[in-house]
Amino acid sequence: MRAEISEIFESIQGEGILVGVRQVFVRFARCNLACIYCDTAKNSEFCRDYIHNRTLRNPISAEYVSNLIKSAKVHSVSFTGGEPLLYADFIRNVEKTKPFYLETNMTLPDEAKKVKDVVDFVAGDFKVREALPNRNYDEIVERTVRCFKILRNCRRRQTFCKIVLPNDFDFDEVVSNAESIKDYVECFVLQPVFGQKNIKILLDLQKKLMDIKDTRIIPQVHKYLGVR
Ligand code: SF4
Repeated sequence: MRAEISEIFESIQGEGILVGVRQVFVRFARCNLACIYCDTAKNSEFCRDYIHNRTLRNPISAEYVSNLIKSAKVHSVSFTGGEPLLYADFIRNVEKTKPFYLETNMTLPDEAKKVKDVVDFVAGDFKVREALPNRNYDEIVERTVRCFKILRNCRRRQTFCKIVLPNDFDFDEVVSNAESIKDYVECFVLQPVFGQKNIKILLDLQKKLMDIKDTRIIPQVHKYLGVR
């Protein structure tokens, strides 16, 4: 089993409720969405393995990734992207010698079913309409709710919802979206797009969502630290 991976490296988790834990990051190439704030590199011809300081030609085998994470001294392995659920079969084939942390846009429910028994942590997005101006947003919402239901927070899996907020967004729609998945998540994380200065609206939104569930405001810490 092989996958297109753009980079593999060790760092700290810079987002969400596990911020600061050390992880191996497996960043897959390609995504099924095109968010306006996306900063993911599009090149998928090569994979940069920063742990061994080498560059490999894609696709990369599950065996290569398994061997790499076996010896790493980390809290967990983050499958990120791009969109890791495009590679659900690959993730199932990686030997699980560390807990698995999935960072996903939550729009591929059929693929989510394939990994629900192997992931220990899920950082799932709920995209705001403004991030995806050219998409059928109602369909995105419907898929997202299904994904959260499949990958719901439970005794053996910690799932939280990350809402990335650009400068302008529909406040009431975010609240309504949060309401639709409140039973499936441990908490909500409001993540301002890097450089967003309107903190008051985030605080107002946090206060409103606290009626539904615990809600935290957590920026991308790795960007402030200047680490990968
Ligand atoms: S879901 Fe993530 S990787 Fe995909 S386009 Fe949006 S920001 Fe980029």
